[in-house]
Amino acid sequence: MRVVICGAGAIGACTAYFLSRRGVETIVVEATDVAAAASGKAGGFLARDWCAGTPLDALARRSFDLHAVLAGEIAGDWGYRGMSAYSGFVAGEADAGRNEPSGLSWLSEGVVITSRIGSPDTTAIVHPFKFTSAMMQAAQNNGAKLHRGRVTGIVRSAGDGAARGVEVNGSVIDADAIVIAMGPWSLLAAEWMNLPAVFGQRSPSLVYDTGTDVPRHALFLEYRDRGDEVISVEVFPRADGSTHITAWSDVVPLPLDPAAVQPEPEEIGRLQEIAERLSSLFRADRIVSRQACFRPVTQDGLPLIGKVPHSQGLYVATGHNVWGILNAPASGEAAAELIADGAAHSVDLAPFDPARLPPLDPSLLRTN
Ligand SMILES: Cc1cc2nc3c(=O)[nH]c(=O)nc-3n(C[C@H](O)[C@H](O)[C@H](O)COP(=O)(O)OP(=O)(O)OC[C@H]3O[C@@H](n4cnc5c(N)ncnc54)[C@H](O)[C@@H]3O)c2cc1C
Repeated sequence: MRVVICGAGAIGACTAYFLSRRGVETIVVEATDVAAAASGKAGGFLARDWCAGTPLDALARRSFDLHAVLAGEIAGDWGYRGMSAYSGFVAGEADAGRNEPSGLSWLSEGVVITSRIGSPDTTAIVHPFKFTSAMMQAAQNNGAKLHRGRVTGIVRSAGDGAARGVEVNGSVIDADAIVIAMGPWSLLAAEWMNLPAVFGQRSPSLVYDTGTDVPRHALFLEYRDRGDEVISVEVFPRADGSTHITAWSDVVPLPLDPAAVQPEPEEIGRLQEIAERLSSLFRADRIVSRQACFRPVTQDGLPLIGKVPHSQGLYVATGHNVWGILNAPASGEAAAELIADGAAHSVDLAPFDPARLPPLDPSLLRTN
């Protein structure tokens, strides 16, 4: 059996790893580079039980545990480590009198910490670019192939219509099974098969070189912006001395070419101003990356993981929204089980069945 995975983000790389571990012939086709999109630009924060009470709970718990296992099992260092997480707010003029120090000495006065919301047993972090690259490399070490090129369509058998290959740069790569794992660009695959819509939500982010100055504290802070809008700001210090800061997200048109995603200078400037309010450690000369990326989001906010409705040999694994790095290992493991064994047994994929949502009308797609 040969499986072709379209997209080498965290989801495609983890699916490739779990398939290759079972000895399944696997080819990953990637339009730009491994982890070139959200999977390389995310914060990398992981939480064991923050999806409790939602259909994501079992997937998130399994995945949180798998992250710890993979860190010990696979060669490479992607900075997996437990950390504490805190919530709070940044006091503005309206909060006069609440301008007390946070208790975390590296934060500026005016940053108020209200509670500890995660401990190193329940919250952790990875460097998402290094994690995704290591998973892809581990798959390659098991025999998987990485093929650079843009998937532009699916080829089906004339008789039963079963998928038999993917079109890449004018040629066909034969496949017995195909997995769409193109993040927000999975939307384009709705032209080739019955797939529900996947939207892209863009967020800017800044990465600072903070060395050992910022302790292992993930922060979730409410910040009242100029127009009185309340923004949620997230700060993630990572083991390699980089600190990732992100905030709002917008629905803006997704560039057709993943390599064309660029941050808006105005948004970056606004995020930089906010970061400077949080701590004097976030100085402009310490910025090592100004970036933007699109999270893949579905109509009901849950991922699509499963067989593509009314098809043979077609699978999808995308739509992981804000938890794609957390949920990549368990999603890849379950997708590999589904493809190789005919059913997933490590987690129940029923809540993520693509058939729960209506397929996108392909005439709505503008691909030129
Ligand atoms: C600012 C920000 C912070 C985040 N922080 C976190 C966090 O702390 N924790 C967490 O769990 N999640 C986080 N996320 C979410 C997470 O990044 C995503 O859910 C996850 O990366 C999605 O992975 P993916 O593999 O589905 O998609 P992507 O990473 O988008 O990968 C898709 C890949 O498909 C390729 N591709 C596209 N079209 C084609 C084609 N036609 N042919 C071949 N290849 C193609 C692309 O080049 C890309 O490499 C964050 C997201 C953002 C934007």
